[in-house]
Amino acid sequence: MKISHRLTLTMAAVAILSVFLLAGLIYNSTGSIFSRYINRTITLQYQRWAEGLQSYYAEQGNWDNLQTYLQNPAGNVVSPGHRRGRGPGVNAQRFMMGDIIVVDANHMVIGNSSGTRLGEYVSDRELKNAYPLEVGNKYIGSVIFYETGMTRLGELEIDFLTNMSRATLLAALLTLIIAIILAIFISRKISQPISKLALATNQLAQGHWSTRAQIQGDQEIIVLADNFNLMAQKLEEAQARRENITADIIHELKTPLSILRGNLESLQSGALVASEETFLSLQDEIIRLTKLVEDLEVLSRLESGKLALDLQPCEMSGLLDALFPIVNTLELQGKVFKSEIADSLPPLYVDKGRTLQVLINLLSNAMYYTPEGGTIILQANKGKEGFVHLIISDSGKGIEEQDLKHIFDRFYRADRSRSRRLGGTGLGLAIARGFVEAQEGSIWAESTPGKGSTFHLLLPAVT
Ligand code: ADP
Repeated sequence: MKISHRLTLTMAAVAILSVFLLAGLIYNSTGSIFSRYINRTITLQYQRWAEGLQSYYAEQGNWDNLQTYLQNPAGNVVSPGHRRGRGPGVNAQRFMMGDIIVVDANHMVIGNSSGTRLGEYVSDRELKNAYPLEVGNKYIGSVIFYETGMTRLGELEIDFLTNMSRATLLAALLTLIIAIILAIFISRKISQPISKLALATNQLAQGHWSTRAQIQGDQEIIVLADNFNLMAQKLEEAQARRENITADIIHELKTPLSILRGNLESLQSGALVASEETFLSLQDEIIRLTKLVEDLEVLSRLESGKLALDLQPCEMSGLLDALFPIVNTLELQGKVFKSEIADSLPPLYVDKGRTLQVLINLLSNAMYYTPEGGTIILQANKGKEGFVHLIISDSGKGIEEQDLKHIFDRFYRADRSRSRRLGGTGLGLAIARGFVEAQEGSIWAESTPGKGSTFHLLLPAVT
């Protein structure tokens, strides 16, 4: 079932139910208010009749002509009080459609509005409901009222209740119409953005990576659309990355493979002499290719989280010792190396092999970009809680700002002149970041072009 249909039906049902509930309650309470009002009016009416009859007796000193007095010529009942201006009033007459019986002190009927029971003696049972009549503390008789039982509600009241029922029905109908219009409006407002989002999702699923949902609506829908757009953007970026990587890999493999192929063809045709030098250069190409494939394999394992890490406590001094060959090389190249390790540094808690690989990569880059006589410094300080902060700075040529944010990307070489042949694959820093992040650490770089670069590493320490 569509959301819009369900919402419309629910709202219509709630509207009908609430109107009828309300109407029922109003009808009920109005009915009982009327009943109370009528009961009070009748009781008052009876009392006035009784008072009127007492006054009648008091004025005359007897009950003479009472029957004439009770029945008007047309046969309608007229209260004595009304005639004297003190009776129950015309309004009350409709309650008096029943029989009125007046008995004297001996309980004989001396007045009867229907005239059927004159001269009869009433039973004690009948007298139980009678109003006793007294003049000057003297019992002069009783009056008994018999209702017809036709109706206790007057026409006005019945009219009122009928009108109210009609008005309730009308209100129910109007509320229903308004509820349906509102439901259609609201459900459209809710379902339209959902349909749009469903369409966008479908397009994304079909590989239209640039799909974005332009949605306006309620807060939750906007959050949903924003999340969808973020997801679409990430998918698009991932897709672009994948495409770039494939293109980069093809590019990186193409050159050495065509060199190998060309050399082998030349060897076959005899254009190239099969000297030791030729074989060494072919072997070089193979070594470089193997290194590239190995680097890519490491990156892919890092990305899939499948790279096993051997995390252990590792002293800074141990790392420095292991860095001896590269330090030695850079010193042989006439560059200065300094290490500044803070006292009482906690041991690192890292995979020693992978961390050395990162440091060697950073030092090799520093060595490559720092001219003879330049300085390379390795510092180790206490980092934020639970971390050691390693800093490798050089006084090399530095990195331009536009390159700085990309140097950790795969195959990114700011220095185009440092071609694959000169040793750079553009994968070193991408792998370094992968290793560091896999160990819950972080890596970033700062640089002032022309002055040098600084690489920062935050690595977990033994706590
Ligand atoms: P490569 O194998 O090309 O060295 P990296 O991923 O290690 O690849 O480095 C990426 C790029 O970052 C390099 O091509 C270089 O342009 C730049 N870079 C890295 N380290 C430094 C440095 N210390 N000084 C200047 N540029 C650097």
